[in-house]
Amino acid sequence: MDPVRILLVEDDSQLGESLEAALRLEQYAVDWLRTGEPVKAALGSTPYDLLIIDLGLPGVPGMQVLRQLRADKHRLPVLVLTARNTIADRVDGLDSGADDYLSKPFDIAELFARVRALLRRKGEQRSTQLQAVGISLDPADRLVSFQGQAVDLTAREFAILEILMRNAGRYVSRARLEEGIYSWGEEVESNTVEVYISRLRKRFGSSAIETMRGVGYRVPA
Ligand code: CA
Repeated sequence: MDPVRILLVEDDSQLGESLEAALRLEQYAVDWLRTGEPVKAALGSTPYDLLIIDLGLPGVPGMQVLRQLRADKHRLPVLVLTARNTIADRVDGLDSGADDYLSKPFDIAELFARVRALLRRKGEQRSTQLQAVGISLDPADRLVSFQGQAVDLTAREFAILEILMRNAGRYVSRARLEEGIYSWGEEVESNTVEVYISRLRKRFGSSAIETMRGVGYRVPA
């Protein structure tokens, strides 16, 4: 079996060295970068399973690396290391695409626990294919097909469809769907959800999404 590959981005030599050594002792394959600039190329050339990145980096800040990564549709789990620990920083980081957060200083056992949890979650996502009304949606690889044909969706269309598919058979409120697209960072207009629902119906047929007035929307199971 291939080893689990971790890309570590940390400019602090002492911390970087000890993290690299500790992760290797746990049998992970680790590559260590001191700055964010080479991250994109590294992810393009090696199939990493996890990224551990410090936010305070010289040059391109970790947060910007993270945003770029998600804009490029990289789906690998990201654990952010930061000396900052305010609620706003956490929310910023999570909005930028971090899956989990660890504030410095931290215990190495805590880091291992977070790493294992993220890798486990990644494994579970891989095996989940959501299926209903002829639509098949793979949350990990962000692929959608309809009656066997691949379908291209925008990020927001995908986000709404994923929530509906995860709740197939149950009505989901408009507020819940709005929450699902807030994380894409723009203001949500009052009729935004309706607009996306109508686009999705054009793709998958009007019966693919049912409306119950005052309750919400559902994909029939
Ligand atoms: Ca740093």
